[in-house]
Amino acid sequence: MPKPPRARAEELEKVQARFEAFLRGRQLKLTEERRGMLAAVFAQAHHFDADQLHLSLRGKGKDISRATVYRTLDLLVQSGLVRKSSFGDQHAHYEAVRHGEHHDHLICLNCHTIFEFYRPDLEELQDAICAEHGFKPLHHSHQIFGLCESCQRKGADELLLAHKVSQLHA
Ligand SMILES: [Zn+2]
Ligand SMILES: [Zn+2]
Ligand SMILES: [Zn+2]
Repeated sequence: MPKPPRARAEELEKVQARFEAFLRGRQLKLTEERRGMLAAVFAQAHHFDADQLHLSLRGKGKDISRATVYRTLDLLVQSGLVRKSSFGDQHAHYEAVRHGEHHDHLICLNCHTIFEFYRPDLEELQDAICAEHGFKPLHHSHQIFGLCESCQRKGADELLLAHKVSQLHA
């Protein structure tokens, strides 16, 4: 269900304040350009890549360079407001980190659809494993690669899939 505009505006104010504090710590300013990028990132419902974001900003008449988009995304990732994943291919995928939200991913190697899941029992199990090792977890990310239902029905090229699996995390 889409959030009411008021909730979205409040969320944006909070993330702006966090980003501004992060930038201040690095002697950087929340410029109009950075503010606009932050709003564009949090307007994305799903994962996106840097070039898609660049195109959509240009499409809205924003005069922003590709290099600026990449640099600002790096800052957003460092600030913890944006998550960056490779999903096994060569380019980075980004997504806004919503307040207190966490999920993991299933990635179809054939059609590249990304499915998100959250399982509290899995999260608890991980915490228990860390505790057993006296380990303090700071970040984790599950990526399960495979075939989605519809690609299983259509049948995928086994040889190509085997190749894709061998290239994961290469
Ligand atoms: Zn998780
Ligand atoms: Zn698929
Ligand atoms: Zn995700």
